[in-house]
Amino acid sequence: MNSLKKYKTTCCYCGVGCGIVVTDTGNGRIHVEGDKEHPVNRGMLCSKGMNLHYTVNDKTDRLLYPQMRMNRSMPMQQTSWDEALERTAAVFKTFIAKYGPDSVGFYVSGQCLTEEYYLWNKLMKGFIGSNNIDTNSRLCMSSAVVAYKLSLGEDAVPVCYDDIEASDCILVEGANPAWCHPILWRRVEAHRAANPDLKIITVDPRRTQTATSSDLHLQINPGTDVTLNHAIARVLIERNWIDNDFIANHTDGFEELSAKVFERTLEESALICGVSVDDIQKAAYWIAQAKGFLSMWTMGLNQSVIGVNKNLSLINLSLITGKIGKPGNGPFSLTGQPNAMGGREVGGLANMLASHRDILNPEHRAEMENFWGGTKISDKMGLTATEMFKGLESGKLKAIWIACTNPMVSLPDARMAEAAMKNARFVVVQDISSRTDTIKFADVVLPAAAWTEKEGTMTNAERRVSYLHKIGEAPGETLADAEIICRFAEKMGWGAHFNYKNFGEIYQEYTRTTEGTNIDVTGVSYNLLKQNTVQWPYPAKDRNAKGTARLFEDHQFYTANKRAKIHGVPDANESESTNNNFPLILLTGRIRDQWHTMTKTGRVNKLKQHIPMPFLEIHPHDAQERGIENEAIVEIKGKRGSVKVKAKLTDEVKPGNVFLPMHWGRVLGNDFGRANNLTNNLVDPKSKEPDFKYSAVEVVKY
Ligand code: SF4
Repeated sequence: MNSLKKYKTTCCYCGVGCGIVVTDTGNGRIHVEGDKEHPVNRGMLCSKGMNLHYTVNDKTDRLLYPQMRMNRSMPMQQTSWDEALERTAAVFKTFIAKYGPDSVGFYVSGQCLTEEYYLWNKLMKGFIGSNNIDTNSRLCMSSAVVAYKLSLGEDAVPVCYDDIEASDCILVEGANPAWCHPILWRRVEAHRAANPDLKIITVDPRRTQTATSSDLHLQINPGTDVTLNHAIARVLIERNWIDNDFIANHTDGFEELSAKVFERTLEESALICGVSVDDIQKAAYWIAQAKGFLSMWTMGLNQSVIGVNKNLSLINLSLITGKIGKPGNGPFSLTGQPNAMGGREVGGLANMLASHRDILNPEHRAEMENFWGGTKISDKMGLTATEMFKGLESGKLKAIWIACTNPMVSLPDARMAEAAMKNARFVVVQDISSRTDTIKFADVVLPAAAWTEKEGTMTNAERRVSYLHKIGEAPGETLADAEIICRFAEKMGWGAHFNYKNFGEIYQEYTRTTEGTNIDVTGVSYNLLKQNTVQWPYPAKDRNAKGTARLFEDHQFYTANKRAKIHGVPDANESESTNNNFPLILLTGRIRDQWHTMTKTGRVNKLKQHIPMPFLEIHPHDAQERGIENEAIVEIKGKRGSVKVKAKLTDEVKPGNVFLPMHWGRVLGNDFGRANNLTNNLVDPKSKEPDFKYSAVEVVKY
């Protein structure tokens, strides 16, 4: 056993970024355990991480060779890499010549490695000449990205996990880390066990496990986060529990916020939010008293038609109290996917370029044009995730290449997404698994290497960059995604610009684009990362330093005038309205042991045991009114479709709200539990993130 080779790597599921020791047990099989020396998880793994080896060892659903068909009524046929990529290149060239570069698009994933993300962006923006590349991270944290830029001047998470242990008050809003970021939550629990005075406040319309283990649960009505955050800000301002010096010296916009929060009385806000005035005051008091005040959030704030405003109103609480840039303090957006942050670093959204440059900034475009030496970078924003599928539906977008994601389950308004894919003239699906619902729409299928079968880097939620080893050979004819992109670029005629000796060269090219930026990683290399993970920025001149755990310790923010911006945003929710036909608000979310659309975790028996089937949480009052009993099959009807599922009667949701997990697609052969039959296509106007967590529905006995 001792002779078996061990490798240190990083979990490929969530943005916590736990260290994993992988033992290569031979024949393509592995065993995993937590890395006791890793600064994030200190040896701990959650149920998903602990069972990762099953998804690698079980290759029954793996795509093993390229496939294609000449039309969708024909079955897929095995083909060679050359044929598959030559045909794809020919189709892309034809569309580009006939309809222009904006007729094609790439839709990628927060699970791609940084190198892959970099190449996708370079190819689309720097050579094809369109900005039509977006990612499923748009569905996840783009509201937080916009809010960080508007308030701090940069998409830069200012805190680190070690701030958990330095905090006295943690405010969790629109997140259930006990289930969705479990190892981070175990650190919170351990911190509380050692410090019983720690106050945990959870803001969530559901009584989740996180809420249950908190000192205060503000069970707000869906969509009222801004009103609540404003009410807390009002108490802080009224009682002078704010940091006047910090506000005067390091921020702009306080007057705007102050005017806004006094537009409502506390009583009025409490009524809108469905919580008590006392609880709002208690939350404000705990925040004010804390030497370390940490806020954490995820999809409850981000996946909203007012997601940016929700984020800004929460970040305000850190800024008006001056609780940022100090140990234990700051606003912490918890990334959902393992490499959503790495993707943003290299420009992985339709509005960005490498190293957080902006598409709309002519200097930024010129810098990258010179660096890449390809074509002129378009000054037009690319299509975002939902816009791409609308583009396919309308015929504006002709061809789409989907890599490492399963939009037929994960996009809102599944019927529209399906209509879009049916209307697409050409679809390439690049994946590891034959289980994705998206594959049935493909014209070309490209088999990709999986975690442990390729090398590269990822960045977790605290800006920690880690190196992932290639541990075993990829099965069949599968290739690493980066290699597939380079081979395609060569078929398109740009091979000289995508000719790398190894993956380390791709990473080094990316690091050069960061020089002098706020996310400078010119000091980072594969060699360094093979020894240690590091947090950016990490410029070459700091080669002997250990990276940057916490930002803004000098209170110099990344805005033009170095001052953070406080925003007094409107508090109205813009979601679709309930009415007599659809009187209930549908919330969607994750369960503990499943990941995204279950193409990996859905194969692991141990993980299925936790919650094997989709369910609808409905309050007993609402159930009784409709004659629905616990475990009965119900039909959830919405404006865009319907879903059948088993009812779970519980007071964990308030009357008027129902909850459905987001993981299930058509795995059961029908629409059983497919949440996105019901969700809508509304997006936040600034972040373009969909409003997944607020749809009007009715529930009836089936
Ligand atoms: Fe993996 Fe996230 Fe679990 Fe850590 S918390 S083991 S990163 S899924």
